[in-house]
Amino acid sequence: GLFERAIDSETYKGGVSVDTRLFLAGKFTEGAKREAIDLYDPARGTFIAKASIASVEDVDAAVDAAHAALQTSWGTNVSAPARAKLLFRLADLVEQRTDELAALETLNSGRNFLQAQGHDIPDVAANLRYYAGWADKHHGQTIETEDGRLAYTRHEPIGVCGLIVPWNFPLLLTIWKVAPALATGNCIVLKPSELTPLTALKFAALTQTAGFPPGVINVLPGYGATVGHALTAHMRIAKVSFTGSTAVGRAVMEAAARSNLKRVTLELGGKSPTIVFPDADLADAVPQIVTSLFVHSGQACVAGTRIYIHERIYDTLVPLLVRAAHAFALGDGFDPHAMAGPLISQAQLDRVLGYIEAGKAAGATLLAGGARADRAGYFVQPTLFADVPAGASIATDEIFGPVGVLAKFRTESEVLAMANDSAYGLTAHVFTASVDTALRVARALHAGSAFVNMFSLLCPQVPFGGTKASGFGRQLGQAALDEYTVLKAVHIRV
Ligand code: NAD
Repeated sequence: GLFERAIDSETYKGGVSVDTRLFLAGKFTEGAKREAIDLYDPARGTFIAKASIASVEDVDAAVDAAHAALQTSWGTNVSAPARAKLLFRLADLVEQRTDELAALETLNSGRNFLQAQGHDIPDVAANLRYYAGWADKHHGQTIETEDGRLAYTRHEPIGVCGLIVPWNFPLLLTIWKVAPALATGNCIVLKPSELTPLTALKFAALTQTAGFPPGVINVLPGYGATVGHALTAHMRIAKVSFTGSTAVGRAVMEAAARSNLKRVTLELGGKSPTIVFPDADLADAVPQIVTSLFVHSGQACVAGTRIYIHERIYDTLVPLLVRAAHAFALGDGFDPHAMAGPLISQAQLDRVLGYIEAGKAAGATLLAGGARADRAGYFVQPTLFADVPAGASIATDEIFGPVGVLAKFRTESEVLAMANDSAYGLTAHVFTASVDTALRVARALHAGSAFVNMFSLLCPQVPFGGTKASGFGRQLGQAALDEYTVLKAVHIRV
């Protein structure tokens, strides 16, 4: 059950420890079926720990515990300022454990340690504080009516929420759901990816230390087909928030519809465009464009993977991007010189290499990378293609690896048509020195977020989510509060 290790690297010198059992009703337990899974370090392919895997019976037990907590120690039984206090305390605990949480993230998911330590985990604490601040400020309205009744609204917790997250930024994507759900008074059953449960389990232990009542937070690492499906089909779960692939998103919505019509938030895949206009500051744009493409080896739903370059700067910019791709250093997450780590698994490696081979076979021009990196672990070279035939899978599908496609454009209307010609609509990027161009293009793009002169860098205060096959509903910002509350109207005849 307990995983402990001393790690001595150039960047992190310390020990990490985590209880690798399920966290259910305030206690760590091996679960009804005592199933376990072997976890591997994706940078080396070596075994790191055995972790418990939940079963459908554990889901039922967690939902019972969550309902019991709602009726006694949480929900409307605890004041909003008291919830805020617990969340602030939890943020402090996360902050104190930043190095350990970042090291666990690196070991388990391959995430670059300095990026986890400098960005992801601080952002986890920032999200907890942001929503702690909202806990006692999400007020209703009083409403004037023509017949003079007193009408007012209340934002009430939905109840028990099922939260399902993927493996790419395990704790950060978890907190985007957990923080607003708890701030608004819900109880949660969280399913991390079976591949990357360690930081969610460490976080569960911190919620215990912070003093959250048992049952409010339950963490059940498990497989999608069993635990994931059970959460989406459960009759006593009132809401599911899901981050993952579009294919599974469809299954989530279907299960929600067939069971109790639970509410659903879907954060799905992307194939986000990046448009570079001829007036862009190229020296500034190049690092933004390649960061968007290659950070975490492309395992980011917001990656800017379709790059449209104006014909006047095409021959200047392309060699700069190729050089930046070659210079984008891969390495073990603890290597302080590495800019990106490995893919998560052999399956993802095979999938990404399959796309690269399909691109070559379709006749696209390979400008950089195009193969597995020459080292142990699941590394793929930063890869760029140009002259991609219309409809080729590298130009349409979300690859979730370090693969970008470059294309030339002439006019603004032409590039808008190209950028919007995608099943997805998560983010989009525009590089230009003109405020007019930026505002016009940002308005015309079919995307949940548009970023001007920067890659998709998210923050707690600003809502984030998709359109089209990238899903619906919003995380982050004030908008996320509505995803976890029922808006009740009260009318009083006066
Ligand atoms: P995935 O869809 O395979 O899995 C996501 C989660 O869903 C995992 O926890 C998995 O166990 C679970 N799951 C699988 N089958 C399920 C089912 N039938 N019912 C319920 N849950 C089930 O995705 P992945 O491969 O883990 O992650 C990569 C995908 O996630 C990419 O498509 C990426 O774009 C997307 N993603 C989106 C965002 C976003 O915010 N939009 C962020 C990160 C990742």
